Amino acid sequence: MRIPLADLRAQHQQLGRDLQEAIDRVFAASDFVLGKEVRQFEEEYAAYCGTTEAIACANGTDALELALWAIGIGPGDDVITVANTFAATAEAIVRCGAVPRFVDVDRQTLLMDTTRLEGAITPRTRAIIPVHLYGSCVDMAAVMAIAARHGIAVIEDAAQAQGATSRGKRAGATGHAGCFSFYPGKNLGACGDAGAVITSDHELANRMRQMRDHGRAGKKYEHAIVGRNSRMDGLQGAILRVKLRHLDAWNARRREIAATYHALLRDVDIRIVAVPESSEAVYHQFVIRTAERDALRHELEASGIQTGIHYPIPLHRQPAFTPYLPASMGDLMAETDAAAAEIVSLPMFPELSDADVHRVATSIADCLTSRAVAAA
Ligand SMILES: *Cc1c(COP(=O)(O)O)cnc(C)c1O
Repeated sequence: MRIPLADLRAQHQQLGRDLQEAIDRVFAASDFVLGKEVRQFEEEYAAYCGTTEAIACANGTDALELALWAIGIGPGDDVITVANTFAATAEAIVRCGAVPRFVDVDRQTLLMDTTRLEGAITPRTRAIIPVHLYGSCVDMAAVMAIAARHGIAVIEDAAQAQGATSRGKRAGATGHAGCFSFYPGKNLGACGDAGAVITSDHELANRMRQMRDHGRAGKKYEHAIVGRNSRMDGLQGAILRVKLRHLDAWNARRREIAATYHALLRDVDIRIVAVPESSEAVYHQFVIRTAERDALRHELEASGIQTGIHYPIPLHRQPAFTPYLPASMGDLMAETDAAAAEIVSLPMFPELSDADVHRVATSIADCLTSRAVAAA
């Protein structure tokens, strides 16, 4: 039997009639764009995260772009983030006319190294985007203290961290805005593209609501600003409301699986990517490191175990972003580059059985032991 990296069919089978009823409600109302279900999801998601507002939009990349735009980031501005992330983080910065500036990651967690943050700030720096990669939160107390000293904004990329916490606060709820993707494979996923921004700043929320809907001010054909179209579908809102009720249980199961991996891999010659002390993680990915990464992936694949790499090419090495960067960038990204050659993500989803977790761990141990013996 094949063990996939993630399995959405298992999740949807479990939800069965609830999803169908949600879909039927939207058809009955013909509320296909924004509408009541989306409004209710916004309220429920804001309450879940502990902010006063949530603004639903079309996807996670737009969520980042709306937040940057609403805060006033544009040409001439720099935004600091990391290169060990999905392309969308830097894409949103460039789309706003600003320039991404990458800082290296911490060797243990592979998240933004906050000790390097202050050194990367220049007079052009207008915002910081910490990325809560793998479902682990960057220490937001450290980021907020530095941002406050320099008077710059903090926008959290929480696309992989629905429900995670930093110092007891939900991912996305500490910064000026927190951005989420509900791409189907995320911990909370729609059945198509969807995203949201959370904030407790009412004016910022209003600007984002106008921006996502053609700059509309109240009445249907009254446009206060030049906006865009980044609205969430009614169907996605209704589906996300159903799934949100299961998020805590799903995340708890992910943590249980992570604990089992930790126990079973304790004596195996690999390193497990760490979670900061300040965060309770939701394990969007469970990531290990080994110099034998490519051989290990090959052997696991042969025994029916799917793995992934998040991410194989850091953004400072992507042709899309190199034109914006100083030529010497590589020297400053030693940890990011070293990690990209060694990281591998193991199967991780709430419906993964204990037996399958054992099979993955045993296969890793067998593979690395036999390679060590062969090399000796
Ligand atoms: C998924 C993801 C995004 C983008 O979300 P989309 O909904 O695919 O646009 C942004 N940042 C990170 C870290 C992500 O994982």
